[in-house]
Amino acid sequence: MSAEKKLAELKSRLLEIADLNGAASVLGWDQLTYMPPGGAAARGRQMATLAKLAQEKFIDPAIGRLLDDLRPYEESLPYEDDDASLIRVARRDYERATRVPPEFMARLNVHMSEAYMAWAEARPANDFKKVQPYLEKTLDLSRELANFFPGYEHIADPLIDYADYGMKAASVRKLFAELRAAQVPIVQAITAQEPADDSCLRKHFPEAAQMAFCEEVVRQIGYDFQRGRIDKTHHPFTTSFSVGDVRITTRVREDYLGECLFSNIHEAGHAMYEQGVDMKYDGTPLAGGTSAGVHESQSRLWENIVGRSLGFWEYFFPKLQQTFPEQLKGVSLETFYRAVNKVERSLIRTDADEVTYNLHVMLRFEFELAMLEGTLAVRDLPEAWRERFRADIGILPPDDRDGCLQDVHWFGGVIGGAFQGYTLGNVLGAQFYAAALQAHPEIPDEMKQGKFDTLHRWLIENIYRHGRKFTAPELVKRVTGGDISIEPYIAYLKAKYGQLYRL
Ligand code: ZN
Repeated sequence: MSAEKKLAELKSRLLEIADLNGAASVLGWDQLTYMPPGGAAARGRQMATLAKLAQEKFIDPAIGRLLDDLRPYEESLPYEDDDASLIRVARRDYERATRVPPEFMARLNVHMSEAYMAWAEARPANDFKKVQPYLEKTLDLSRELANFFPGYEHIADPLIDYADYGMKAASVRKLFAELRAAQVPIVQAITAQEPADDSCLRKHFPEAAQMAFCEEVVRQIGYDFQRGRIDKTHHPFTTSFSVGDVRITTRVREDYLGECLFSNIHEAGHAMYEQGVDMKYDGTPLAGGTSAGVHESQSRLWENIVGRSLGFWEYFFPKLQQTFPEQLKGVSLETFYRAVNKVERSLIRTDADEVTYNLHVMLRFEFELAMLEGTLAVRDLPEAWRERFRADIGILPPDDRDGCLQDVHWFGGVIGGAFQGYTLGNVLGAQFYAAALQAHPEIPDEMKQGKFDTLHRWLIENIYRHGRKFTAPELVKRVTGGDISIEPYIAYLKAKYGQLYRL
């Protein structure tokens, strides 16, 4: 068989797997939006069946043989070539999937669903003791999983690879240490001042009008409704069935305008990344975002750097006032801008503002490393959490419910690699945006006129269309000419918040 035929055979097998995964995503989306409660048991089974079929098809030794046979062909092509990239990324996924025995994955999945159920009861009851044995077993299993990938520098490295391929515990730790040193003083300087008044966001805003406004905002920034739609859910997420169908979900609070608005822009950022992937990669391993960090860089760039900027609201605030004339009567643009950029010390990561957010993430990342290294025992986690939280964020969590039990991540997945992507996203978002500004200094002025296409097109051209072709470090190198750096992010924070507060 010629290389061309072998490649066609590989692509056709991978397409079947993409189809099974796409179908499972439709079921998952339905489960979290419209499915009646009675559908739960069958739906769980249906999704597990599809996942099993996809997994069996993927770890088929025939795929391994095709990948081996195609190596000379791949090596004859430039690194950036589409075929070479498809083979390279498929091989990386294949090696990762086949290193871990199915017996272990089954054990892990059973444990994770038990741990999740224990957490769902323990969190409202503020009962860390209830989840402690589950978390201890999760830690053991996380180590076991890492050890299927020997040769690592740090035991967290293989786990970080799952979300942020190419990043290492040591490099993330170094980056975060720099970030913490630069960011803690900014938080301290701001929180020592009078907090912004955000009462203009906390009135009654009827749901239908909020939804209509949010839809208009995301349409205008570039989310394509011909290839997507918005539905309601409990915890907003984005899901992709194909490049031609990338959906976002949202929730509305009638007593708080910020919820629906900013979570929509956030999810639209994730979705525009997936919609922007070159259509020719659809149904291949190259479709989709390249890493958790780069994905989050797009949601945070659109939500914060664009969606919480003064220029953005110069354009949208008069429209928002037309939508809610009573609620926003007499509210100035300046007051509204300060309100959507309110900074405060808070307990919950997902509610944190953009200045304090990274501090929430970095302490979780450090705890993951410490638990995996064995320097922090699971039973000591609540106390360690309280201490570090007080040192970094300046308040003492009153209980574990809003302390170490607040996030689902360690109870629905392994310990290691779960959190760094959020902060890498903030850092990368600012770095990419700075590069876009360098190429197109007119972007901020265009935003004041409600034009976002120069920025959107730059992001498609430099980031989105490549899908998974380049790793995050490769992408940063191509886009900025250098390595990942906190400088643009810190410069952004200082410029923006220096104008909002005295720094
Ligand atoms: Zn996100």
